[in-house]
Amino acid sequence: MSYLTSVSLCFLLCTYILADKSLNEVLINGDYDFIDLTYPFDNQTIYWPDSQEFQFTKKTAMFQRDGSWYASNDFTAGEHGGTHIDAPYHFLVDGLQVGQIPLNKLIIPLIIVDIASKVNDDPNFVLYKHHMDYMLNDNMGKPCLIIFKFGWSKFFWDKKKYLGINNDQLNFPGLSAEVAEWIVSSYKNVVGVGVDVASVDPGSSTDFPVHKILLGAGLYNIENVYFQRHIPDHGCTALVMPMKIAKGTGAPLRLVAICPKHKPEYF
Ligand SMILES: [Zn+2]
Repeated sequence: MSYLTSVSLCFLLCTYILADKSLNEVLINGDYDFIDLTYPFDNQTIYWPDSQEFQFTKKTAMFQRDGSWYASNDFTAGEHGGTHIDAPYHFLVDGLQVGQIPLNKLIIPLIIVDIASKVNDDPNFVLYKHHMDYMLNDNMGKPCLIIFKFGWSKFFWDKKKYLGINNDQLNFPGLSAEVAEWIVSSYKNVVGVGVDVASVDPGSSTDFPVHKILLGAGLYNIENVYFQRHIPDHGCTALVMPMKIAKGTGAPLRLVAICPKHKPEYF
């Protein structure tokens, strides 16, 4: 059998074997990593300065008379804090609210664009097209979520540093309007854009053009993505699971990536 024939036979066989397995079998067979990209919600969670921070308003945690344990809390929190989603309605009057975003936009191939070495911890860094040689990995034109890694997660536990608070000003890196325009005009397969900083716009922005462009085009944003370990730049599937606040402009989010431990050969 020629090399080519055996390669194509293997491809057919592998495709058949994969197709024959249920998703449950595929996910529990040990070939995938489950990577949490979410900060915990507690009294250290970072919120936009004018937002309600996460707070337990009622806490019960006690043994009952019969010796059994009972614990339950109430909480309050702003929509836009910690790892969270911005629904299009945040900046678009007839845009989708959180509860309306369809699942096929929330369970989606994930592309990571790692620009941390270019940012080099500079809070004034703004990402332009030339930083990426005018090329974006776009999942070969298929639907995807793109998350830009600025290398900012390491500052999250120091609110002043993470937000770059100086008097009433904020200062941290972000995307330019140029990049936002580029994504919505040239990469129409992109359904959402994420960042590992507090906003898709740079911290110093006061008119939020990146929010207006991305949400205005019907994409969703994810802010405060938590990169605590290496994640492949392609080949992972994102589970974008916001709390389903029906009319939310945004919502706390559980963001998880499911990544193959070994890079499949066809990538
Ligand atoms: Zn937000």
